[in-house]
Amino acid sequence: MARKYLIAGNWKLNNGGLKGVELAAAVVQASKEVAGLVEVVVSPPFTALAAVSAELEGSHVEVAGQNLYPKDSGAFTGEISAPMLDESGAKWVIIGHSERRQYFGETDEQVGAKVAAATAAGIKPIACVGETLAEREAGNTMTVVFRQLESIVPELNKKPGFGVIAYEPVWAIGTGKVATNEQAQEVHAAIREQLKKTSAELAEVTRILYGGSVKADNAAGLLACADIDGALVGGAALDAAGFAQIAKAAKASGHDN
Ligand code: PEP
Repeated sequence: MARKYLIAGNWKLNNGGLKGVELAAAVVQASKEVAGLVEVVVSPPFTALAAVSAELEGSHVEVAGQNLYPKDSGAFTGEISAPMLDESGAKWVIIGHSERRQYFGETDEQVGAKVAAATAAGIKPIACVGETLAEREAGNTMTVVFRQLESIVPELNKKPGFGVIAYEPVWAIGTGKVATNEQAQEVHAAIREQLKKTSAELAEVTRILYGGSVKADNAAGLLACADIDGALVGGAALDAAGFAQIAKAAKASGHDN
């Protein structure tokens, strides 16, 4: 079964107002030629979600939140729930990004609860995993990634193919140090093997994105790898033309994943 490429932009703490609407409109224009062939997603801050969703209505580009709280409503000041993301027009949500794990102390257990809440609300989770440089250098990459997957995989298995995994080595995020194609493919293949232990179907249909300093000039090689089904893009997603180049590289990648 073919897995459609997914190119998702993580805008982080940028473009929370009118600038976000303008960037989203520019992404639609710049990436028109991939419509229907590659899924394209942008993730503005919460404050711009509804306006960006309205701007993108009827286009080939969808919207993601960057986080959620795993309760639908209640006394949780400052939090946003999965049904609220849905009301804002978001179809996707990034969960467990390394910055959330590192700066906000998100645990594997919380990440699993968030993936569950998103899935239950019909919001597609992009669940992030990845090792730090120290963990890689200690030879612990797979141990760390498999531990992070433990809380995520049972939730993804409730609706195989609905949610996706993003492998983002922490040492490659925002550093300009991209993993080599071989380093990325090795971990992606290992993640798929791990998914097989739950079910062959889950392994076959789950898209595994690579994230970490993906740019227009290195995307083609990464996306040509057999187990890389797309990219989660940070810095390069803030420029519509460069981001669209990555989506076009996915379209051009000949391999039938
Ligand atoms: C990210 O934050 O998910 C990311 C991959 O960032 P960058 O592309 O800037 O490394």
